[in-house]
Amino acid sequence: MTEEIFPFAGQVIYLKRKRIKNMYLRVQKPAGRIEVTAPMRMKRERITEFLGKHWSWVEKKQQAIREKAETQKLTRQYQTGDKIPLWGVYYDLVVRDSAGRQASVVCRDTRIVLTVPAYATVEQRREIVNGLYRRQLEQAIPKLLPRCEAIVGKKAAECRIRNMKTRWGTCNIVKARVWLNLQLAKYKPEALKYVMLHELTHLWVHNHGPAFKARMDVYCPDWRRIRQELNQFADFA
Ligand SMILES: [Zn+2]
Repeated sequence: MTEEIFPFAGQVIYLKRKRIKNMYLRVQKPAGRIEVTAPMRMKRERITEFLGKHWSWVEKKQQAIREKAETQKLTRQYQTGDKIPLWGVYYDLVVRDSAGRQASVVCRDTRIVLTVPAYATVEQRREIVNGLYRRQLEQAIPKLLPRCEAIVGKKAAECRIRNMKTRWGTCNIVKARVWLNLQLAKYKPEALKYVMLHELTHLWVHNHGPAFKARMDVYCPDWRRIRQELNQFADFA
């Protein structure tokens, strides 16, 4: 089996080739990723034609995924049955009564178990889940940062986690201080890596002009797709 990127209608299609007779098209959760499975020797024109024929279906499907994600985040009450994202995967939330003991949250297999007093408010529950995100990032960042610094060729004097409402990260160029949004723990690890590379690149180029983009193309060739997915499914709630 092989996999390649197949551009179509301004989107990224993941093209897999297998020993099969027919073509298959899928739009996947949670980010609306489009995947085509095609026979090994199928001509590219045939694949383009196939996509064109089914494109309105793809767009409808992506829209439905987006709307569902939107309702989930608006209706998230931190009760049993809610979906909680972590590293790009949705987990089933199970809420237990802490019965006087300390509140806690753990991730086990396909579930996130939140133990809180029965009277805990939505905000208090969210704060405790944010604690899980923070711990996950605290584990991930020390491993990822040296790798990103090696790619970019610049070092951050400091790298901190902050819960931000409008930005994925910031970089104080004078102090070489990088701040990463706590919310990044909700997305695929590649998103965290992209934001880290982006902020470190500011240590070379202050703005987002052509020189910045040229460096990003080298450090993170996939950055446009990752950024698009991140912003399309942004969930700061
Ligand atoms: Zn920037």
